[in-house]
Amino acid sequence: MTVPRTGTPSRGLLIGGREVPALSGRTTDDVDPVTGEVYLTVPAAGPEDVARVVDAAHAAFAEWAATPPSTRRALLERAADLMEARSGEFTDIMIQETGGTRTWAAFNIRMSADLIRQAAGMATRPVGSVLASDVPGEWSMAVREPAGVVAAFVPWNGPLILCTRAIAVALATGNPVVVRPSEDAPVTSGYFLADVLADAGVPAGVVNVLTNDRTDAPAVVEALIADPRVRRVNFTGSTPVGRIVGRLAGEHLKPVILELGGKNPIVVLDDADPVYAASGIAVAKFMNSGQICLSVDRVIVQNGVADAFVEAFLAKVRTVGQGAAEGEHTLVGPMINARAAERVAGLVADAVAKGATVLYGGGPAEGSFYPATVLTDVTPDMRVHTEEVFGPVATVYRVETEDEAVTLANDTEYGLSSAVYTENGGRGLAVARRLRHGNVHINDHSVADEPQAPVGGVKDSGFGHFGSDWGAEFFTETRWITLADR
Ligand code: NAD
Repeated sequence: MTVPRTGTPSRGLLIGGREVPALSGRTTDDVDPVTGEVYLTVPAAGPEDVARVVDAAHAAFAEWAATPPSTRRALLERAADLMEARSGEFTDIMIQETGGTRTWAAFNIRMSADLIRQAAGMATRPVGSVLASDVPGEWSMAVREPAGVVAAFVPWNGPLILCTRAIAVALATGNPVVVRPSEDAPVTSGYFLADVLADAGVPAGVVNVLTNDRTDAPAVVEALIADPRVRRVNFTGSTPVGRIVGRLAGEHLKPVILELGGKNPIVVLDDADPVYAASGIAVAKFMNSGQICLSVDRVIVQNGVADAFVEAFLAKVRTVGQGAAEGEHTLVGPMINARAAERVAGLVADAVAKGATVLYGGGPAEGSFYPATVLTDVTPDMRVHTEEVFGPVATVYRVETEDEAVTLANDTEYGLSSAVYTENGGRGLAVARRLRHGNVHINDHSVADEPQAPVGGVKDSGFGHFGSDWGAEFFTETRWITLADR
């Protein structure tokens, strides 16, 4: 049986270009976080479905790997154009599926189109080098060949960007993929991109989509990583699940990229322009209701500028658009679900009970909505000091010296994104080099992304990079080939 496609209330597992139900026949619901209504039904695959999805991807491997690089590039470029042309459709789906705001949806489209175009260029980059050889007359070459089926586990929060990032360079370099979208966003973190790629002409089987419900996730994830034809794994999600994926990848000897959580700091040094810093930091905190892995959690301000910064920051926060995701200027809209909003309310309540001061917002959640909130007087015994907030709550810390600021910024097991504000570039660079975070931005905020940059974490925020040469290296196998002179 083939299940109808977009625009209808159900989808199937996308296997070799056809949509089919799970072998068990079970389905799972995609729910609108605001109305609580079921928006779409997708198959709830079990581990028994994994082999046939990988069969389809593996069957497409040889032909896709042998497709002329310039054809792969052209197909991906066409997909980027199609994606932009469907921006309106995507925005409507994203608002309904994740509560993501109009501004965030627009950013998802723009960034994803950029990611695909950058990846497209990787298709025609050199695939190796000629080495110096100690053997007279011998050709000695390092060549990179496509690795094989890629398993990509994608989250819901920046769904299109993170789905695109997880597969674009893999496709450009000749690999088929199995996308396992988020249970909370099967369309925006899976089907939408698969449809665009198919409509651009990427052959059936090169992109496959496997959906499951949360109960089956551990078994499905394990079966996919364990399949011997899967040669590369990538996971974007929380650190606890990243540890599980990392352990499975290790057990089955699969190279893995892990893009995990963060507890991102921004340092405002005492020579910074407080108004400029406040305006960047408000975006870094409140865009998509703080549900971005790069969102700032901790704003660390030197005393010399602290009063001026707090005044400017609160003035900015008062103007942050809050409410319906559809709003033209909404930054803080509904969160992914009421459970997420409750969790954030719990972090704030814990902090307040232990002596934190609420400078703005606070209080209980209302359904899936939590208001923009600013806390100060935060101490290490509070959960909000150590736990990733993943919601619209900023904590402001005052410190005396630059050293204290650096120590506090590094005092976390995470190491994803960070920033420093200063009017002195040399001072900013010196501080940046002391920050143990994968990304450091001087005079720009923590939510920065560029397709050609090595965006990624250190420490418990994971390892590996998707973009540019780093991605091409990851998604290919390096082989040494020699040709003797005889
Ligand atoms: P999550 O880790 O809670 O869930 C991810 C997936 O893990 C789920 O879809 C589920 O299928 C799977 N899973 C759950 N339990 C499992 C188990 N026992 N075994 C195997 N799989 C299991 O994350 P999320 O809610 O999708 O996303 C939010 C998190 O992602 C945040 O921590 C955020 O910081 C992080 N994130 C990181 C980046 C980055 O680039 N570093 C980007 C976006 C999001």
